[in-house]
Amino acid sequence: MSDAASYRKVDLHTHSIRSDGKLTPTELVDLAVEQQVSLFALTDHDSVAGLPEARQRAKEQGLSFINGVELSTQWHGIPLHMVALNFDEENQALQSVVTQNQKIRLERARRIADLLVKQGLPDLYDEAFALAGDSQLGRPHFARLLVEKGLVKDANKAFDRYLGNKRLGKLRDVWPELEEVLNQLSGQGMELILAHPKRYPLTVTKLRRLLADFARWGGTGIEVVSGNEKPDHVRLLEKLSTQFSLKASAGSDYHGPFGPWMQVGKYTQIHASEVDLVWQDW
Ligand code: AMP
Ligand code: MN
Ligand code: MN
Ligand code: MN
Repeated sequence: MSDAASYRKVDLHTHSIRSDGKLTPTELVDLAVEQQVSLFALTDHDSVAGLPEARQRAKEQGLSFINGVELSTQWHGIPLHMVALNFDEENQALQSVVTQNQKIRLERARRIADLLVKQGLPDLYDEAFALAGDSQLGRPHFARLLVEKGLVKDANKAFDRYLGNKRLGKLRDVWPELEEVLNQLSGQGMELILAHPKRYPLTVTKLRRLLADFARWGGTGIEVVSGNEKPDHVRLLEKLSTQFSLKASAGSDYHGPFGPWMQVGKYTQIHASEVDLVWQDW
């Protein structure tokens, strides 16, 4: 099949206000429809709370919808994101990973606030907690407060100076081990996709090691593209996807109209005919 023949505008990686996205699930689905997306997944960080609303809206709009969530994990002390797709919301194992990660998020936020206090900043925990409301509390909330209070110029600076993985020290590796999470979730019919593999501090050799572990532990795919990766990175990921027999997934990682994010349904073009697409039968 040629790339043109197999071309279908899908987006299997997006965020709503239920994590650190800017749009409600309804607004996000409407935007996907406007962008002519034909298959869509909502993948909030460590939350499935937006799925019912998104699914309902997708149904009204005639958009094919896939359950998703982006889970925080770690591998050799490196924080890694894994997108789970096409699961049953009632799945106990998935619910238990999500609940555990939500608890870790709250504990981590307290410790992040303490870390900032040690650096002479005000205690932002209560405000960050309030700002998050019923969304998943995370570093973007602290970043927003730091910007609003004029303590840094923009979110990027907030991550550079205070919140980036390098700045977090031990708080970097609070997440459950990748092996453990894959152990809990594999073999239950859902797709387990390594998110944005080129965004981690890994050489290609280390990335290969990660993919070998990931496949061995029950991972089923990788994102060959998630946003505006360089075309040569996408080509490399296509090759790795084939070499490790991991299916290829794709998404925008859209968070909202501002910042570095791609539009819903937009990402660097992939060679769909050269990989085994995760959405082939969806
Ligand atoms: P957390 O889930 O709390 O670890 O926060 C990670 C989130 O912060 C990512 O999913 C991004 O949306 C956001 N993020 C990471 N780096 C930056 C950055 N340099 N500038 C703005 N947002 C960022
Ligand atoms: Mn995010
Ligand atoms: Mn991510
Ligand atoms: Mn994401």
